[in-house]
Amino acid sequence: MIYDVLIIGAGITGAMTARALAAYDCSVAVAEAGPDVAWGATRANSAIVHAGYDCVPGTMKARLNVRGCAMMETVCAALGVAYRRCGSHVVAFGEKDEETLRTLFARGEANGVPGLRILTRDELREREPNVSPEATASLWAPSAGIVCPYGLAVAAAENAATNGAAIYLNCPIRSVAEEDGVYAASDGATVIRARRIVNCAGVASAELASLIDGVPYPVHIIPRRGEYIIMDKNAAGVVRSTLFPAPNEKGKGILVARTVDGNLLVGPNAHECAPDDNAVTAEGLEEIMNGAHRLVPSVSQRDAITVFAGIRATPDTHDFSIRPSETRRGVIHAVGVESPGLASSPATAEYIVSLLEADGLELRPRENYIPTRRADGNPKRFAEMTDEERAAAIAREPAYGRIVCRCETVTEGDLLDAIRSPVPATDLDMLKRRTRAGMGRCQGGFCSPRAAALLAREQGVTLDAVTKCGGGSWLVCRREDGEEAEK
Ligand SMILES: Cc1cc2nc3c(=O)[nH]c(=O)nc-3n(C[C@H](O)[C@H](O)[C@H](O)COP(=O)(O)OP(=O)(O)OC[C@H]3O[C@@H](n4cnc5c(N)ncnc54)[C@H](O)[C@@H]3O)c2cc1C
Repeated sequence: MIYDVLIIGAGITGAMTARALAAYDCSVAVAEAGPDVAWGATRANSAIVHAGYDCVPGTMKARLNVRGCAMMETVCAALGVAYRRCGSHVVAFGEKDEETLRTLFARGEANGVPGLRILTRDELREREPNVSPEATASLWAPSAGIVCPYGLAVAAAENAATNGAAIYLNCPIRSVAEEDGVYAASDGATVIRARRIVNCAGVASAELASLIDGVPYPVHIIPRRGEYIIMDKNAAGVVRSTLFPAPNEKGKGILVARTVDGNLLVGPNAHECAPDDNAVTAEGLEEIMNGAHRLVPSVSQRDAITVFAGIRATPDTHDFSIRPSETRRGVIHAVGVESPGLASSPATAEYIVSLLEADGLELRPRENYIPTRRADGNPKRFAEMTDEERAAAIAREPAYGRIVCRCETVTEGDLLDAIRSPVPATDLDMLKRRTRAGMGRCQGGFCSPRAAALLAREQGVTLDAVTKCGGGSWLVCRREDGEEAEK
C-alpha cells in the first residue's frame, strides 16, 4: 500500500497532525520509534497550555501558541480529554523582575493574548495565599490552562486510528529513499511507502531532516533536560493556578502547578544533556525544590511520590522551524518544536495540514468521519463517572465493578478498555498512561501484579512475556521448576 501521508514521530505534534488529517479523505501512517505514542518530550513536560506572552512577537512560536491555546479547550472536549483553564502567574521578586513582567505584558499584547493584567502584591496574595511573602507583583494570564500531554497524544492517535490511520509502534525510521515520487521509509525490517512525509521526530527532527533532504538541516537542536517532582494530591491545594518565576535565558524557570489529575508538579530545571539522557539526579531534585520554595515556601518534599525528566528539543534559532523541505517534494519538517509545543499543538497540526494542501494534497472531507476516539464515542474512566454512569458501566461490563488500582480508583473495566482500544495498551506503562493505574501514592505496588495478569490473560501469553515498557523490560521470569518468580 502507498499512503498519502507518512508522519514520523507520534509525539503531540505527530499525533495531532494525524488527528487533523483524519477529517479528510486521505490515507495516513504514523511511524513511532518508541513502544508507545508520546515517547519523547510529550511524555515528560510541565503540561501547561501557555497563554502566549512569553514568545517574541512575530515568531512562528508566538502565532501557533496563541492560536493553539485558544483551540485547546474545544479539541480536548472533542476527544474527551480533561482540560482546565486555571490561569497562570509570572511572579516578580523586586523591581528587576517587575521590569520583566512589563516586557512580557507588552509581548502578550502584541501577540494577542487575552485578559493579561499585572497584579499588585495584595491582588496576587488574595488569589494565591501561599505565594512567598517576598513576591512583589505578578503577570496574570487567565487564558493559560493545564492538560495531560500524553493523554492528549494518545487520544489524538486513537481518533486517527479510528478513522483508518495505521500506527506503527517500535518503528524507528532509519532510511528514506525516493523513487518516482514515492518515499520508502524503513526501520530496517518494515518498509512504509508514502507520497508525502511529515517529520515530527522531536529531539531527532533536525537529524532526520538532514537524512531525508540529503543536505544538513540549517537548524541545530540542543537537547536540554528538565527534571520534575510529582507530589501527592493532598499537597495540590497550595496553589490554585500555575506559578512561574520571571523567565531567564534558559527558559521559563521552575514552576509550581497543579496537574489536571489533581497532583502538584514542581520543576523543571534546564541543563544541556545527551539526546536520550533523561536521568533524574539528586542535585537536580535539590535545585527544583529550591526553585519551588522560592515561589511557595510551604511545598514539602515529603509529599513527593515520584520523579521524572523530559528532554527539550531546543533549536539554536529560538523558534519553531516548520516548513517544506528545500530539496524534497512532499516533505514537511517540524523541527525545534520546544516549549510551547504542547500548547501550540492544535494550531501546529492545522498549519502542517495547510502546508500539505499547498503541496498538492487534496483535502476532501472524509465521508463517515468519526470525531471521537472510538466509533461509539469517547471512553470515560470509572473514576470520572457519576454514580448512575458507574452503575450502567457495571451492568454493561461487570469488570467495571472490580477495582484494580485503589489509589486512582481504576477498575478492570478501564484496563480492558485500554487493552482493546484503537491504539491498544500492550505493556504495563501503556496501561498506566491510559488509565492512571500505578500513578497514585503507592506507585503501582498494589495494582501492578493485577494489571500484568490481566494483560497476560488478554494477550493469551504467560506472565513472563509481559513487559513494563516493551523491549526486554519483563516483570517476572520463569524458574527452573517452571514457577514464575519476580525479576
Ligand atoms: C522539560 C520540558 C517542559 C516542557 N513544558 C511544556 C509546557 O508546559 N507546555 C508546552 O506547551 N510545552 C512544553 N514543553 C515542550 C513540549 O513538551 C514539546 O514541544 C512537545 O512535546 C514536542 O512534541 P513533538 O511531538 O514535536 O516531539 P516529541 O514529543 O519529542 O515526539 C517526537 C517523537 O518522535 C519519535 N521519533 C524520533 N525519531 C524517530 C524516528 N527516526 N522514527 C520514528 N519515530 C521517531 C520519538 O520517539 C518521539 O516519540 C516542555 C518540554 C520539556 C522537555
